[in-house]
Amino acid sequence: MEKLIYLDNAATTQVYPEVFEEMKPYFTEYYGNPSSVYQFAQESKNKVERAREEIAEMLNAKPEEIYFTGGGSESDNWALVATAETYAKKGKHIITSKIEHHAILHTCEYLESRGYEVTYLDVDENGLIDLEQLKKSIREDTILISIMSANNEIGTIQPIAEIGKIAKEHEIFFHTDAVQAFGHIPIDVEEMRIDMLSASGHKIHGPKGIGFLYIRKNVRIGAFIHGGSQERGKRAGTHNVPGIVGLAAAAKIAKENLESNIKYETKLRDYAISRIENEIPFAVLSGHRTKRLPNNIHFCFRFIEGESMLILLDQAGICGSSGSACTSGSLDPSHVLLAIGRPHEIAHGSLRLTLSEKNTKEEIDKVVDELKKIIERLRSMSPLYEDYLKKEKANV
Ligand SMILES: *Cc1c(COP(=O)(O)O)cnc(C)c1O
Repeated sequence: MEKLIYLDNAATTQVYPEVFEEMKPYFTEYYGNPSSVYQFAQESKNKVERAREEIAEMLNAKPEEIYFTGGGSESDNWALVATAETYAKKGKHIITSKIEHHAILHTCEYLESRGYEVTYLDVDENGLIDLEQLKKSIREDTILISIMSANNEIGTIQPIAEIGKIAKEHEIFFHTDAVQAFGHIPIDVEEMRIDMLSASGHKIHGPKGIGFLYIRKNVRIGAFIHGGSQERGKRAGTHNVPGIVGLAAAAKIAKENLESNIKYETKLRDYAISRIENEIPFAVLSGHRTKRLPNNIHFCFRFIEGESMLILLDQAGICGSSGSACTSGSLDPSHVLLAIGRPHEIAHGSLRLTLSEKNTKEEIDKVVDELKKIIERLRSMSPLYEDYLKKEKANV
């Protein structure tokens, strides 16, 4: 079989071999429970605390503000539910956006069912929220603004520092789902006035099932998982030591290579975008052209059914996505594409390709060549395309 071309790094990433090597001894050698008192457990305890320091440093946070969780979804759930419960006396209003990950949107729906009110901000055609609309949505009883740092489908990066400033001015907590941003673009919780931040290991070449929630010291939210006194009594459960080691190792590598990765991936991204725009007719780029994750390429192709495109790409050894791993299999077009104003019939023909710094120009060339053929073939079978061509002819 030909070598696989993996372009779905927004869904998950390969664990770096060096990350895996660092994790290994914490399965078989240093398997002690960090909460135990004997010497033998010290190695795992120390390693967990070093991991916490490394991650904190990367965000300009303090180690005691980092809480390890079971991943991005858990961090999102915790931030929203616990803030809502802890600050219910102050108010029951939350502001978010229409293009958040389902870990945020479905948690908001849950909170609505519990008597909270949620404002879902619109986004423009590029996927950016409107800061004026944000300001106007703030009420006396608003307790939380939760806006993602960067979108997982179309890659648009929100004006995080500006949102943080507005939240601060109104003394409202600001949470950001940074699962796609952490380790991919610079984040500074002080500069950006972020009060809570969710991140995940498996989106940065670390293991799955591990993540963290940054909680600024003055945010006094309660526990989400009740039980033992791990994580300052706020997140019970025996530490996932190998996971935490892997998360920190991956974060460290991401930090060291941040600038060069951004440079390399941006160049590769823009090369792919320009080839697709120049060589494939009726291709519409989704998301902001420059305020965009360095690794995100997202297009809608007219007269194409997205699933067929993915299957044919798969047959050519190429892994891509229709947008969100969580919505594939459902017939509804993505909520993100509808929010940026894509009509249903165009939103169905969506393709997301997300890079890692291991991808090459040769791979991109092969993918675009293959994509051209696939799209030509699918359109040649499309009654909609045929209709369109007939109408064009009639108009001439
Ligand atoms: C992947 C993702 C999540 C969920 O993270 P898990 O670790 O898989 O639970 C949440 N938000 C965004 C933006 C994501 O891309």
